[in-house]
Amino acid sequence: MPGIIVKPRARIFHGHDWVYATEVRKTFGDPQPGDVISLKDYRDRPMGTAIYNPNSQIVARRISRRKQKLEKEFFDRRIAQAIAMRERSGVDLRLCRMIWSESDGLPGVVVDRYGDHVVLQTLTLAMYLNRQLIADALILAISPESIILRNDSPMLAAEGIEQEIVMMHGEKPAPFIVEAPTAEGGVKFEIDLMDGQKTGLYLDQLDAHAAIAKMAKGKRVLDCFCNQGGFALACAKAGAASVTAVDSSEVAIEATLRNAELNGVEINAVKHNAFDFLKHCEEEYDIVILDPPSFTKNKKTLMNAMRGYKEIHLRGIKLLARDGILATYCCSHHATRQLFLENIIDASVDAKRTLRMVASHGQRLDHPVIPAIPETEYLKGFVLEIVASR
Ligand code: SAH
Repeated sequence: MPGIIVKPRARIFHGHDWVYATEVRKTFGDPQPGDVISLKDYRDRPMGTAIYNPNSQIVARRISRRKQKLEKEFFDRRIAQAIAMRERSGVDLRLCRMIWSESDGLPGVVVDRYGDHVVLQTLTLAMYLNRQLIADALILAISPESIILRNDSPMLAAEGIEQEIVMMHGEKPAPFIVEAPTAEGGVKFEIDLMDGQKTGLYLDQLDAHAAIAKMAKGKRVLDCFCNQGGFALACAKAGAASVTAVDSSEVAIEATLRNAELNGVEINAVKHNAFDFLKHCEEEYDIVILDPPSFTKNKKTLMNAMRGYKEIHLRGIKLLARDGILATYCCSHHATRQLFLENIIDASVDAKRTLRMVASHGQRLDHPVIPAIPETEYLKGFVLEIVASR
């Protein structure tokens, strides 16, 4: 098998599964993009099997510490392991991320399950080339009605994969309804997997929706960056006194309103840039939720992104009533938990308020974190309460 020899001190010697181009000492046997290769250390000791793509900065991603082919039996095993892990963690197996890339030993494979329908993404060339084997393994494991290959991530360009949305199994699903366990009695969402502007549902936030809803009874809630209304709907169902939801996308606001109707609750959904909304808002709230998209995809623009967070933190804190609660989330891998928390502290200093920590949130257990692969952790959130007049 062709392969590469990895330089000493590369991250793979510290538990990571990636080899960057700068960490390659030598390539042998002429591997081709998308091939399975063997990894060796500088003393020629085997370090396992990886998928290879010299066109990406990450030239190799390990799939096993042993010899391994990309074959049916491998995908069947990995998928069974992923399902078993989620069963142990107690997440709803019918509404969850079933496969999450490196964290499930399938680099570049992302599978989201919405009831009978499955969305597959293949973000690495080797996995893209093996997409049929992956679809077959999914059919064997859970017999879904449909599997949609939704390769529309901008990350695909780095691997030289075309963007496309195609059916791999079954018929194109018409919009359907799923129920999330985020408030008592469940919260219904209409899912339209064929609408290119929608993303299904943010499954990584379902636990946070439930946690905030538990605090929402009788409260005035503001959900900024609401998307399809995940937080807003759970809070409304849990008996909030009023719920305002803001998103700059028309599609998101329409979805939020339709979902509100579906659940028999009232939500004041506003299409607006959240920065401007927060700036001009004159209402007072008991709970302010901030869950923006990632403001940065790389380290270079991190400081700009932090200025964005600081602005919404400051404005969000200012809208809070006595004993008010700020729930704020950051889904950028590059902003660490500590950096994000310091940003909140800075904003509270400027606002002359003291905040007390109520809860610390992270991605749901169906998006497992491998601490030795820091890139697998991206979502962090803090729930903080305003301390009365200090
Ligand atoms: N809170 C949601 C997920 C939010 S995703 C949940 O838990 O399900 C981020 C959302 O922010 C997207 O819906 C996007 O349309 C919206 N968005 C992006 N930039 C925005 C802006 N400047 N103002 C308001 N909304 C924005």
